[in-house]
Amino acid sequence: MEILRADKMGFCFGVKKAVETCYEISESREYRKYILGMVVHNKDVVKRMKEIGFLTIHEEELLEGKDNLKKGDIVIIRAHGTTKEIYEILRKKGVIIEDATCIFVTKIREILLEREEEKDEIIFIGDKDHPEVKGIISFGKNIHIFKTIEELKKADFNKEKKYSVLTQTTLNKEKFLEIKEYLQKHYSNAKIFDRICGATSERQEATKSLSKIVDIVIVIGDIKSSNSKKLLEVALKNNQNSYLIQNDKELNLSIFKPDMKVGITAGASTPEEVIKKIENKIRGKFNV
Ligand code: SF4
Repeated sequence: MEILRADKMGFCFGVKKAVETCYEISESREYRKYILGMVVHNKDVVKRMKEIGFLTIHEEELLEGKDNLKKGDIVIIRAHGTTKEIYEILRKKGVIIEDATCIFVTKIREILLEREEEKDEIIFIGDKDHPEVKGIISFGKNIHIFKTIEELKKADFNKEKKYSVLTQTTLNKEKFLEIKEYLQKHYSNAKIFDRICGATSERQEATKSLSKIVDIVIVIGDIKSSNSKKLLEVALKNNQNSYLIQNDKELNLSIFKPDMKVGITAGASTPEEVIKKIENKIRGKFNV
């Protein structure tokens, strides 16, 4: 048996940093420690954070004043950030904010503020219900938001005004290029910023290549994580013998044969410990 890992897999830069922040903060014993929402879309990580002393606080609780945060508590902001209103509520409460918002998200927020300073209106492409988008656009004043190019095409922008175009970090690159082409053709008064984060597409590309050269693909990730489900979809397109599992307990060793080439990949929210446990279990059974 041979075990091959995808070239890019597991934690992305922003998630890795956010989880590391949690571990660092977990050392401070004298404060109550909270994570705003889910630090990562992965049940094992959430469970682990609870074990090392973190409580969870949700945005709704803060907005409705139903929290019991006290001055001096620590609140970690997850990688995808939060809204301006939540930052303000936290500041007023006097809690210690540990901001683990990914720098790629922060950069988009900064460009938005700079461009608004320059009196541009913002055209934002993304899902307005996604926490990352909710957070970014909450900092702006004059934002036109669109989820798809079809929606965008229905809009009639003023050719006399200045626009800046920003997107969600995980927007599909092909969709972005299509939008860029459309806007450049119709609106020379729109300045387009490419701030897409490659983490998702890199993992999909790596899974695609891997699934073509192995006999079986094990995708490791939470069943609720959209990026892990997407990896399974990509793997299945090229290899029908592909499975999504969440942890080593779900690993069924009877699906492997000793002469197989096994491919392993994992979503951007899957920790290395979970991947290692699964890989070691397969190695242990087949002596590889
Ligand atoms: S997917 Fe990209 S933008 Fe989002 S947290 Fe990861 S590295 Fe940052």
